[in-house]
Amino acid sequence: MSARRIVVLGATGSIGRSACRVAKDLPDRVQIAGMSGFRNMARLAAAANELRPEALAVPDAAAEAELRAGLDYAPAHIFTGEEGLVRLASLPGAEMVLVAIVGTGGLRPTLAALQAGKDIALASKEVLVVAGELVMAAARRGGRRILPVDSEHNAIFQCLEGHEVRHVKRLILTASGGPFRTWAEDRLRAVTREEALRHPTWRMGEKITIDSATLFNKGLEMIEARWLFGLGIGSIDVVIHPQSIVHSMVEFVDGSVLAQMSHSDMRFPIQYALTWPERLAGSLPPLEFARLGKLDFEEPRYDVFPALDLARQAAGRGGVVPAALNAANEVAVAEFLAGRMAFPRIWEIVAGVLDETPDAPATDLETVLAADGAARRAAQRLAAV
Ligand code: NAD
Ligand code: MG
Repeated sequence: MSARRIVVLGATGSIGRSACRVAKDLPDRVQIAGMSGFRNMARLAAAANELRPEALAVPDAAAEAELRAGLDYAPAHIFTGEEGLVRLASLPGAEMVLVAIVGTGGLRPTLAALQAGKDIALASKEVLVVAGELVMAAARRGGRRILPVDSEHNAIFQCLEGHEVRHVKRLILTASGGPFRTWAEDRLRAVTREEALRHPTWRMGEKITIDSATLFNKGLEMIEARWLFGLGIGSIDVVIHPQSIVHSMVEFVDGSVLAQMSHSDMRFPIQYALTWPERLAGSLPPLEFARLGKLDFEEPRYDVFPALDLARQAAGRGGVVPAALNAANEVAVAEFLAGRMAFPRIWEIVAGVLDETPDAPATDLETVLAADGAARRAAQRLAAV
């Protein structure tokens, strides 16, 4: 079997770097044909020098010059700008595009890749939250697959293999609960940036780490699961599992439950998505159950962390409302990270924006992006008061 040629969008991020490690581990099976980076050109150059992709994409001419200065080979293409990301995502000869750009920046390249006949390995959950209907329709139209990289969805994907969706009773997403799982509610207003960025089980980019602390990450994942697996939001539940060993579960109509387990290392789901349907022996560490000792499960504190109910509400309203939820959350997280507001303001702003957002169907990309823009402006306004 020859190597699968893969484009990595967001190669300098946490997921992108894990994907590069998988590629280095399995050079006969995974070949990186393209990479994009956004801010850190030295890091992009170092990754490119190691894996020698034929195509790279960067935001502008200044970044291109900086990148070229760090490269020790001449790639066939260096694309620039948003258009450059779209061209990279459509690279001839690549079979699959790993989308690991944080936030909604991955949306257009994902649609372009599907249109160009690529399969998608999807890390950027925001893409499905914003435009799940459009992205799933584009995949169906082109007969392409969307392989989930998010660990929960990758787990469910594995548990569902060989099973029929009509036999599924519910999906159970596990959540670590984040750093404030056991904190008293009245302490949350004084939470610092550093405390919120200290995730107990996963090392990830800043945005998703804050989302894990508010539980919006799990809220976004409920909506992501709804699109990936075609189930109603009422069939998607959440349970807190602080050890992050069980990555998610599927309960079938007969009451049996299948779970997928591994260490909390994103190379597991990334490797599975990049090499599916193969399972390959790499360098990933095995679980030693006797050393784990025990696994705990508990009910989420819905009253203290409103993100789960807000996401359920947005999914129930449907149309452009999940796009508004996602956009408001992106703005609120950026405001919190910039030190301009208190931690609980994140969900207060999202709730405020949802109240202001009119219901409308997600008919096309323009409609969805307009709702995204309106929600961003509303969130900025609410954050300023
Ligand atoms: P990160 O912040 O570490 O990396 C983000 C990447 O996107 C970087 O390569 C950056 O250069 C690029 N980028 C940022 N803004 C961009 C823009 N406007 N245009 C183009 N590129 C841009 O983030 P991450 O933790 O790797 O997460 C990436 C995505 O994967 C997120 O959507 C996140 O929710 C999802 N995800 C991450 C993890 C994880 O363990 N890190 C797990 C599950 C899902
Ligand atoms: Mg996840």
